[in-house]
Amino acid sequence: MNSENISKKILHWYDNNKRFLPWRKKVYKKQREYFTLVSEFMLQQTQVKTVIPYFINFIDKIPNLNSLAKVNDNQLMRCWEGLGYYSRARNLKKTAINILKDYKGKLPNTIDKLKSLPGIGDYTSRAIMAIVFNKKIIPLDGNVERILKRVFYLKKEKEITKEYLTSKKYFFGTSNRSSDYAQAIMEIGALVCKPVNPLCLKCPISENCISFRKKDFEIKTKNKFNKIKYFEAKIYEKNNKYLLIKNDKFNFLKNMPIFPMQEVKEKKYKFSNNKKINIKLSNMDMKIILNKIDKFPNLTNKILLEKDNSQSKILPSFTKKIFRSIHKI
Ligand code: SF4
Repeated sequence: MNSENISKKILHWYDNNKRFLPWRKKVYKKQREYFTLVSEFMLQQTQVKTVIPYFINFIDKIPNLNSLAKVNDNQLMRCWEGLGYYSRARNLKKTAINILKDYKGKLPNTIDKLKSLPGIGDYTSRAIMAIVFNKKIIPLDGNVERILKRVFYLKKEKEITKEYLTSKKYFFGTSNRSSDYAQAIMEIGALVCKPVNPLCLKCPISENCISFRKKDFEIKTKNKFNKIKYFEAKIYEKNNKYLLIKNDKFNFLKNMPIFPMQEVKEKKYKFSNNKKINIKLSNMDMKIILNKIDKFPNLTNKILLEKDNSQSKILPSFTKKIFRSIHKI
């Protein structure tokens, strides 16, 4: 496989097919760092099309690292409302503060330093290194993993080694457009090398793809089977007011307003006659009993919410979903 040709084909495809995404807008270097930081945090666990309007609004309201470091938490959450995984927003602000304090307002340019910042893990640090600093690095997300596995016909689960992601031998050739290159691979994964029915006839590297030659596109992915857990949510309601608490108990939706709830045994869930709903989180399928109670308990960290405001307040979609369900009770 000639890496020079592959990289040319990939970059040519990217120049002609890349989507216009607001964080890809041509901006000066400092702004590029900020756009990449914000977009990469938003894109953790969330699809591009969902992120676009949030990113535009966020940049409008919080246009740079300084304003992010100083933003008040309510405004920050308002900008993130509905995007989910709210710890990302809190970590993003902490990261901005750290960058200003420890790196004079510039993103650090090593993987280790980036990973020491709150909310930046392996993938995000690699994406920043490639996109912002034009390093010959490919961030490994689900899309990129799929392309590599198909191109090289890797059938075992953990066959992608660092060599595939950093070695010039396979992909990069002599191109100095590493930033575009990493984004091009991600873009081909998102638009062409789809999980089911890949669009090989539109793919710039079909000639170099072993799966295409063999007409075998099946790949082994990690078993993403989510754990099922059972909960009971207590819906305290009086005069159209609902009681929420700040979540300091569960690892999901930390510090966000939720209905008071507790984990219960499967048996209790099965035999309950109350209304039940299912909510999927990234690592868990939650089966929740909604238990309506009309007497308010004495709690210290309670938040009272009017029924009419249940969709407009700064609430995680998790809590809004429960609200919508109880209004149908
Ligand atoms: S040829 Fe098909 S299977 Fe191979 S990388 Fe391209 S889209 Fe994916």
